[in-house]
Amino acid sequence: MSDLLRKDKQYVWHPFTQMKTADAPLVIISAKGARLFAADGKSYIDANSSWWVNVHGHGNPVIGEAIAKQFQQLDHVIFAGVTHPSAVELAEQVVHLLGDPFQKVFFSDDGSTAVEVALKMAFQYWHNSGQPKQRILAMEGAYHGDTFGAMAIGQRGYFNEPFEHFFFDVDFLAFPNEQNSLDELQKADTLFASGEFAALILEPLVQGSSGMRMYSVDFLEQLVQMAKRHNVLVIFDEVMTAWGRTGQLFAMNHGSVRPDIICLSKGLTGGVLPLGLTVSTDKIYNAFLADEKTKALLHGHSFTGNALSCAAALASIQLFRQNETKANIERISTSHQSFISKLQRHSSIASIRALGTILAVDLKVKDEAGYFSSIRDEAYSFMLSQGILMRPLGNCLFINPPYCIEQAELECIYEALEKFIVQHPV
Ligand SMILES: *Cc1c(COP(=O)(O)O)cnc(C)c1O
Repeated sequence: MSDLLRKDKQYVWHPFTQMKTADAPLVIISAKGARLFAADGKSYIDANSSWWVNVHGHGNPVIGEAIAKQFQQLDHVIFAGVTHPSAVELAEQVVHLLGDPFQKVFFSDDGSTAVEVALKMAFQYWHNSGQPKQRILAMEGAYHGDTFGAMAIGQRGYFNEPFEHFFFDVDFLAFPNEQNSLDELQKADTLFASGEFAALILEPLVQGSSGMRMYSVDFLEQLVQMAKRHNVLVIFDEVMTAWGRTGQLFAMNHGSVRPDIICLSKGLTGGVLPLGLTVSTDKIYNAFLADEKTKALLHGHSFTGNALSCAAALASIQLFRQNETKANIERISTSHQSFISKLQRHSSIASIRALGTILAVDLKVKDEAGYFSSIRDEAYSFMLSQGILMRPLGNCLFINPPYCIEQAELECIYEALEKFIVQHPV
């Protein structure tokens, strides 16, 4: 074992990891584009964009130079009572990219905090309006982050079991499919009619952590329209789906309905620095305007509005304005579709689907499916042996690569996936 790994074992506690039984981690010492370089001289294709965040590839010079320039100018400053050019410019650009009806940008640190802020905005909106409402409607299988509010509105089960009794009550709709959609809409209608619901929160079109599960624009639109009819606030958690991931800049752009609040993070800075944004309409914002200071949104973080993160996000947005980025997203989406046509009838596949740059394959399983399925470990090791870093969600093998991935690298991932699928016993 290398000295570094010995020290890692001695000093480091890794996320989502059973430290007793986990294999030694991969030591990555550098990265460029869609490739990660390991200490032992091997290289790996970053098939999941470094936990779904890296959209333009590693070491992008436009982002690197923007951060360096920002550092020379201003690294970080308190964001209450103070503002700075990069934060203001980012807020302006994000509001314009999102379009109507988004007006006001609140800064935080990551996806979980962007969701916490959205929840606090929603609850306090009703509180400030003198009609307190306490209930939230979410979707089974949802993942909104690992802080307490975000856990409360996410899928209950083995991940959060030690904490469940601390959570506030949340109602869940079943994940929609062709059979149950009408029933679930009916259920939402009945719940909303109680007048007790502060908000509906959704990952629009694709549920990430539950296994890249996809549902229709039609269901999304009907549910959101129903919430609006009942005066329930709508929150879209686009932490994973934004920034081109689903083929549109934001997943909501696939349809015409818009939420009252949208959460952004992950690809926002090109995936190189942490930053979360919670963007709201003036309807929400105006409910916090009052002579009483207690009606303000009394929330913030030490690094709120961090200038380096803002500069990285501005550079990332600049890259999204380039035709090359758009062309890459289209190339990946088209390639995914061809891979699907080739493989869809294979007998070991339970489901194969894609939206934009996300491709997901559920393999048939004999044991219990889900996150702890043994296929996960087998697939992870096999892909590593093929020079690909891909972290499955249980029996769901999926890729969501940086958009700059070369076609040859993409083909290499398909080939390895196909090999694994074909040799997988039904
Ligand atoms: C990753 C994720 C989060 C949490 O973001 P973090 O930056 O990990 O806190 C929230 N919502 C969705 C949909 C996500 O995919």
